[in-house]
Amino acid sequence: LPKNSNEICQFSPAMAEVAFRRHQLERDLRSAMTQPDQFHLMYQPKIDLVTETIIGCEALMRWQHPIHGLIPPMEFIPLAEEKGQIVDLGLLVIEQALTFIRRMNDTLGRPIPIAVNVSGYQFELMRAKKMSLVTEIQRMLTEHAIDPEWLEVEITETALMSHFDLVVEQLSQLRGIGIKVALDDFGTGYSSFSYLQKLPISTLKIDRSFVDKASDDRRQTALLHSIITLAEALDLTTVAEGVETLADIDLLKNLRCPLAQGYYYSRPVSDTAMLDLLKTPGKL
Ligand code: C2E
Ligand code: CA
Ligand code: CA
Ligand code: CA
Repeated sequence: LPKNSNEICQFSPAMAEVAFRRHQLERDLRSAMTQPDQFHLMYQPKIDLVTETIIGCEALMRWQHPIHGLIPPMEFIPLAEEKGQIVDLGLLVIEQALTFIRRMNDTLGRPIPIAVNVSGYQFELMRAKKMSLVTEIQRMLTEHAIDPEWLEVEITETALMSHFDLVVEQLSQLRGIGIKVALDDFGTGYSSFSYLQKLPISTLKIDRSFVDKASDDRRQTALLHSIITLAEALDLTTVAEGVETLADIDLLKNLRCPLAQGYYYSRPVSDTAMLDLLKTPGKL
């Protein structure tokens, strides 16, 4: 923006840099799709707040760019959605998650559930290609001989709302084959209480902005409390996201929130580090 009203807004060097990087990433994302080992998953534990044990984890994608290093998903997922690579990336994520479920099973005798993030565009772009994410997931589960109970899907409230009919139909099919579905970033979108119970979901993930403000703001505490109570009344599980402090944990325990996820317990870690956490519970 211009510093004062007399200046006109010019295309600044900084803006040129942003556009240039975006253009580069766009190009590199296309070629990275032929070298899928540039992508890997990190896993963040989900904690049962009563027992303080790991009851599941979320898979978070990382792009190791050969020159720019680690690119955060906030930067490349929107690009991949716009340019269509999200279809293949989405399948890659599930493939890698299932491989890790198998590895957990073989190393520990029993896996924990992994939640993968799914974008509304995945459903839409796949339908345009006469494909179905549900069919692909089913195929991969069979191929890896993995029970659907170990896989979960997270979809953001915003993605659900902007592709409503198709997403609801696809999520119902996922539920139908035994896959749990979580509504992600709950509270940041526009979903209304009235249809929450009609959505094919099993879990609410309360957005971290609610958790963040709750421990020192009474009205925010009340809001958090009512979301937890509402979820319980609707037979949904609740995960509080972004728990960073002991104060957050104490509050969530007081409000009887069943599950939590956040830096307080663990940042997202590599598959090997995740196995370590599961082998040595005291490490958490
Ligand atoms: P999300 O699904 O809400 O994932 C949680 C994000 O919050 C992760 O960021 C995680 O590292 C971060 N986080 C976890 N605990 C804390 C905490 O205590 N404090 C703070 N400040 N942050 C915390 P990340 O890994 O950068 O992912 C960002 C977003 O990118 C995700 O948000 C998700 O929407 C998207 N994403 C990541 N992987 C995938 C994927 O495989 N497919 C799709 N479609 N989207 C993905
Ligand atoms: Ca998520
Ligand atoms: Ca989230
Ligand atoms: Ca906080």
